[in-house]
Amino acid sequence: MENIIRIAVQKSGRLSEESLKLIKECGIKFYNGTGKLKSTSTNFPIEFLFLRDDDIPGYVADGVADLGIVGENEVVEKNKSIDVLKKLGFSKCRLSLAIPKGENYTGMNYFEGKSIATSYPKILGDYLESQKIKAEIHEISGSVEIAPSIGLAEGICDIVSSGSTLMMNGLKEVEEIFQSEAVLICHKGISNLKQQTVEKLLFRMDAVQKGKKNKYVLLNAPNDSLDRIVSLIPGMRSPTILPLAEQGWSSVHSVISEDQFWENIEELRAAGAQGILVVPIEKMVI
Ligand code: ATP
Ligand code: MG
Repeated sequence: MENIIRIAVQKSGRLSEESLKLIKECGIKFYNGTGKLKSTSTNFPIEFLFLRDDDIPGYVADGVADLGIVGENEVVEKNKSIDVLKKLGFSKCRLSLAIPKGENYTGMNYFEGKSIATSYPKILGDYLESQKIKAEIHEISGSVEIAPSIGLAEGICDIVSSGSTLMMNGLKEVEEIFQSEAVLICHKGISNLKQQTVEKLLFRMDAVQKGKKNKYVLLNAPNDSLDRIVSLIPGMRSPTILPLAEQGWSSVHSVISEDQFWENIEELRAAGAQGILVVPIEKMVI
């Protein structure tokens, strides 16, 4: 029982779907009915707490939850004593300064003496200080984009992904001050037994992440070009080579990163590779 860990995930929002998907891809089963705030896995020693994302760093710092999945923006803003175990590669966004479209932007000194509305007073405050700019920070908890048009502030600092919300509110992005993605955070000083469960979860998450970055490649090649082809797709240890029914030809199977595949495709074809198949990998343990 002492090895059961508790993980806090966002109840409903931009992190929720991908967080739960990652956990499912790790082979962990659980019931996630609407409105449920707590759930237990049926096949892994883990419990889930479904919370607002703002509360997750605090719960993990206090040890109410052992782990949490939350945006780096909330981790840095809340400034709690926790460990970041892993970047998770989803919910990527940036925190930017924006001002009304018609304004002439002159650089960071534009903000000197001005007021800026934000839900991220700490990140913004630290950034202004690093730039030696004195501005008034107006903290509001939501709908930040509306602040300039209602006369609440002269600029805003908020999360941007495509920029369409800014545009709809007559604003333009002028400085990017922070980049964020979802991370796995951990309570400092969890017990050894719980640590073992955390290690198991990390091992599975690594396997899922590596699988996503890599592809399984199968191709046919004339035997006299095998050396060249093997050097282009060396794989995990080395590729598998199987003879085709047709004399003088082989089938080559290997694993490569997707980027590497696109870089090498022309050379593979030039070396005589044909019938190239690229197949997704679900999990990868090296
Ligand atoms: P809650 O009700 O849980 O407090 P919220 O409204 O504060 O939710 P969301 O909008 O669901 O938060 O965003 C959660 C996190 O997702 C943000 O803190 C940020 O890390 C990330 N995020 C926000 N907007 C985007 C976006 N447009 N694209 C990708 N990731 C985003
Ligand atoms: Mg929130």
